[in-house]
Amino acid sequence: LVSRKSKLENTVVTVAGEEIGGAYPILVAGPCAVESEEQVDAAARAVKAQGLHFLRGGAFKPRTSPYDFQGLGEEGLCLLKQAGTRYGLSVISEIVDPRDLEMASGYLDVIQIGARNMQNFELLKEAGRIRKPILLKRGLSASIDEFIHAAEYIMVHGNDQIILCERGIRTYEKATRNTLDITAVPLLKQETHLPVLVDVTHSTGRKDLLVPAAKAALAIGADGVMAEVHPNPKQALSDASQQMNFTEFESFVSELEKSGLYK
Ligand code: PEP
Ligand code: MN
Repeated sequence: LVSRKSKLENTVVTVAGEEIGGAYPILVAGPCAVESEEQVDAAARAVKAQGLHFLRGGAFKPRTSPYDFQGLGEEGLCLLKQAGTRYGLSVISEIVDPRDLEMASGYLDVIQIGARNMQNFELLKEAGRIRKPILLKRGLSASIDEFIHAAEYIMVHGNDQIILCERGIRTYEKATRNTLDITAVPLLKQETHLPVLVDVTHSTGRKDLLVPAAKAALAIGADGVMAEVHPNPKQALSDASQQMNFTEFESFVSELEKSGLYK
């Protein structure tokens, strides 16, 4: 169903009047995790100030260590929604448990399924049964074929509002957090009719590579870019080293505008 062979025209996912996969690329930005009302409010204000329409922020964080900050859960979704409403932004957050999808639909405009859950088939099936767009991220070590089949699980269960997100894969290379598979973008666009985003924060894990990675993503045909921004990255409860501060975020957006690839 997700195959280009089954549908020739591109799927456009429209969220509050904004098209993902339409004529213009979009940016999604926000903190790694929702930490407090003040933090998410400040981030939302900065995201809005740069003219974006989409705010991200994790509430259920799939952390490597059980001792690390796990997110605020439903409270985090609520704070994210409130910030989104305050600034007129659509909100995106990750859900990790199929039992939370229904509850999360009350707060979110787009539900993210993260890399670690790309092949959580029960979660994918449940995501197929809800009526919210799903942002599906590529698994840590998933092939393109496995990624496409994961999207197929969602669509075959009834939900055709799917956005794919390349976020880097595991390789032997240690210079970046993951290896951004840039050719995944045109491949996914050839093989499927779905919109494709690139997460430059989790793929590179390096602030000095966000601009070139985002330019490459847009130049190769991505429908948008995701990046993390935090009012005070040094104090962030997760991904402290790779989130942009507001000054860096402003220059990130203006570099993309100057390149002519965005807006
Ligand atoms: C995220 O976007 O918050 C995240 C955890 O990313 P990923 O699932 O790609 O690691
Ligand atoms: Mn993060």
